[in-house]
Amino acid sequence: MPHVQTDPITHVVASQMCTGCGACAGLVPDFITMVDDPLNGRRPVVQQSSDGQSASQKAISVCAGAGANHSELPARDQLDQTWGPVLAAWEGHATDSEIRHRGSSGGAGTALALFMLQSGKAGGVAHITANKQDPRLNQSVISSDRDGLLAAAGSRYAQASPAELLGRIRNSDDPIAFIGKPCDVASMAKAASIDPVLADHLAVTIAIFCAGAPNLNATDKLLDRLEVPIEAKLTDLRYRGEGWPGLMQASYTMPDGSAHDSLGIPYAEGWGRILQAERRWRCRICADHTGEFADISVGDPWHNPPEGDLDDGQSLIIARTAKGERIIRAAIEAGVINTTPASRDVIARAQPNLLDTRGAVWGRRLAMRLTGLPVPNDKGLSTFRPWMTHLSLKAKLQSVAGALKRIFRLKLHRKVTIRSDDICRGSAR
Ligand SMILES: Cc1cc2nc3c(=O)[nH]c(=O)nc-3n(C[C@H](O)[C@H](O)[C@H](O)COP(=O)(O)OP(=O)(O)OC[C@H]3O[C@@H](n4cnc5c(N)ncnc54)[C@H](O)[C@@H]3O)c2cc1C
Ligand code: SF4
Ligand code: SF4
Repeated sequence: MPHVQTDPITHVVASQMCTGCGACAGLVPDFITMVDDPLNGRRPVVQQSSDGQSASQKAISVCAGAGANHSELPARDQLDQTWGPVLAAWEGHATDSEIRHRGSSGGAGTALALFMLQSGKAGGVAHITANKQDPRLNQSVISSDRDGLLAAAGSRYAQASPAELLGRIRNSDDPIAFIGKPCDVASMAKAASIDPVLADHLAVTIAIFCAGAPNLNATDKLLDRLEVPIEAKLTDLRYRGEGWPGLMQASYTMPDGSAHDSLGIPYAEGWGRILQAERRWRCRICADHTGEFADISVGDPWHNPPEGDLDDGQSLIIARTAKGERIIRAAIEAGVINTTPASRDVIARAQPNLLDTRGAVWGRRLAMRLTGLPVPNDKGLSTFRPWMTHLSLKAKLQSVAGALKRIFRLKLHRKVTIRSDDICRGSAR
């Protein structure tokens, strides 16, 4: 039998480098399909044919999971080198009180997207929302009004692939605003850098800060903790929002037709005790948690934490490009977001753990290299400096030794293969 060579996208998935952004499937949807794998996440599957091979060769050019070029980002000083470009920063919230309440932090992401629609700068917003049939999953949509944006407000701590809308954005008659995690935005930026038509159709990119996307098994564990009966039909699942940071809570109907809300648990418990343990390995070697390739990024200003679980929301808003800064200033001027300026070093104050994470990524990638595992071909990534200067000796050693242990415990040398044959709740038990 002739030796069939693994195509480049399948190789990225097999070797734990895929982030699940969906850009490859968005570029060649006839040959690459995104699939929800309960353990490995939402990942692309390439049609096994010579056309599939060719499509994969083409698609690898937009894959930031395989590597991103940080050295192409303008860096004026050490701060930009560490966090990506930070032109200006604000703390604030949506002035629309419903958006602020439903939003994950202060609803800034949704408010800015709505501003793009209402000011005529965009004809649609590409983002993700809960899948109506099975709210454990996410689907990528292009919203064109406030209702669509509001329905999707609130972070979903689960696998999602908004960059699978790449083709629709490219073919759209109107410019489209894009919202995604840093890895989703990185692939969109990579694609736009080689495709002027796509670049022209991207009205703005907005990245939400991200520490890692848990898998479907993690969602099922969360539903167990929320005491949602296994025979129930899930009708809604919220991870954040309805106050800051919000509760994790589900709604469901029982076979007798009765409707129920589950208990709600604090975000800190849901993330800290259940979800974060199930982040994929790719997230543990991700160095861009704040959306360096975006025009605008939004996150939580944890340095001014909420008083309880359901406080009035606040967002951290970062302008990363001149276009992003113009849009934010116009939105402030239009009264869409209520803000106070923050100093450019606010990311480090808001999320001090991120510098440790960045340093640890260098140690983890070193462990991968030492054991012969492929690592993403990122260029200009500032991870060695934080490893060298920011981590204690113990943390330096831990970043390498801990990763070596995980590599063997998680059998990371084993090739990842994607299966979606049974994603019913409870199937993993
Ligand atoms: C997996 C994950 C990890 C996170 N980790 C951090 C963190 O480490 N630090 C931090 O400050 N904040 C983190 N967040 C929260 C998020 O970055 C902030 O809440 C951000 O400020 C967005 O709030 P907002 O009120 O401005 O946005 P909203 O107005 O609530 O809008 C959120 C937008 O994000 C989109 N979205 C939601 N979930 C996803 C997803 N899984 N993938 C792609 N797009 C999505 C929605 O479609 C919506 O348009 C995380 C969120 C997720 C989903
Ligand atoms: S483009 Fe995105 S989904 Fe496709 S292989 Fe790369 S990281 Fe994975
Ligand atoms: S941690 Fe990085 S790779 Fe993982 S989902 Fe978030 S941005 Fe993507």
